[in-house]
Amino acid sequence: MSHCAIVGINWGDEGKGRMVDLLTEEYDIVVRFQGGGNAGHTVINDKGKFALHLLPSGIFREGVVNILGNGVALDPENLWKEMEQVMAQGVDITPENLRISDRASLLMPWHRLLDELEEKRLRDKKYGSTKQGIAPFYSDKYQKKTIMAGELFYPERMKQHLKDILEWKNLIIENVYGAKGYTIEEIMKWADDFCEKIKPFICDTGDYLRQAEKEGKKILFEAQLGSLRDLDYGIYPYTTSSNTMAAYAPAGSGLPSARPDKVIGVVKAYSTCVGEGPFVCEMFGDEAEELRKAGAEYGAKTGRPRRVGPLDTVATRYGVQVQAATEVALTKLDVLSYMDRIPVCTGYEIDGEVTDRFPFPMAMEDASPVIEYMEGWKCDISGVRRWEDLPPQARAYVEYVEKAVECPITYVSVGPERDSMIYRNKETDND
Ligand code: GDP
Repeated sequence: MSHCAIVGINWGDEGKGRMVDLLTEEYDIVVRFQGGGNAGHTVINDKGKFALHLLPSGIFREGVVNILGNGVALDPENLWKEMEQVMAQGVDITPENLRISDRASLLMPWHRLLDELEEKRLRDKKYGSTKQGIAPFYSDKYQKKTIMAGELFYPERMKQHLKDILEWKNLIIENVYGAKGYTIEEIMKWADDFCEKIKPFICDTGDYLRQAEKEGKKILFEAQLGSLRDLDYGIYPYTTSSNTMAAYAPAGSGLPSARPDKVIGVVKAYSTCVGEGPFVCEMFGDEAEELRKAGAEYGAKTGRPRRVGPLDTVATRYGVQVQAATEVALTKLDVLSYMDRIPVCTGYEIDGEVTDRFPFPMAMEDASPVIEYMEGWKCDISGVRRWEDLPPQARAYVEYVEKAVECPITYVSVGPERDSMIYRNKETDND
């Protein structure tokens, strides 16, 4: 069975959404398997420009079934608002092309509130949460204190379950944070306003996927964020609260038996990072501002300026390894076209020693980057569609990255539009 996972190799915002939008042409089903609406994918195609947060990026392709798996943080309120927005832009979303797992847990209003209260309490020690409730949500899920989407089909039992959880939750909101708790009436109203809207889309997606696999359907797993934000393998605690790994895709999707034979790791031609935490290759001052502007590096969800730096081969090679990427899509190469010379971070210096191995998170606090430079190409490459038409310096850069991260680069993107893509054909490499 030829399933594929599209995952982020770095801190996220690498351009996974545009890769999924492009490649869904070859797949029948797209599944989001982790994370919530806390990040944003920007997709530009023949239907327009879209900012997706929780909807799978296969939603624009006719005939493709999109699934929100059991591993996602299902925020009914924001999902419904996002659906309304995308539908208003002329995209059909029906229970035929969007299915929500009955085993996905609901992100409740108190998750967002607690996220905000905790960030406030932390003050300057904050982790840089997007305040979408993701960390409180996953903590509750692992404490078995969430409501599953399928409970909406059992209203009486769900109400009792909600009452029980709310009693506990209010203890924390009121006694730990001194804030105002919720009444069951407020929560039931919220459920009426938003959960009822998404109810028609909820079904046993695990059963659907098992059946689809039997029929030979091809599945694409879509990740949110990147390796360095993975809860277990990322720069903890500056991670997200879920697993962004391809290895988690089957479990978070509802098809734990699946084995994707293709893992496309998306790598940006330079580095960006939103929020707090060690970012060894970070650039500052005018140099950073110029790159940020060239790459329009401002968060899709928050508008926050992203921290920027050169491509980090230490972090990227690690990301490729932990994702077990079988190939890499290198995005935003066009953004580097203004540079006379292209910086690359090739090692970390820690306590006077240089290493090219990805260190323990705390050791990264004291690391400084080792920077080398490649020749720039100084011309517009956004119209290039064939590998052999790229300037030799641009090809040299791609080949250098490929060698450094130890994985073939099969796609190179040179613009945000669906067709701004160079399909790298190995046979044409040696011209
Ligand atoms: P995702 O969360 O990984 O899907 O990435 P984002 O959507 O947050 O960030 C990628 C941004 O870069 C989006 O605004 C895309 O439209 C844009 N983008 C993607 N690929 C390219 C490219 O090759 N060149 C340029 N200039 N922009 C790109």
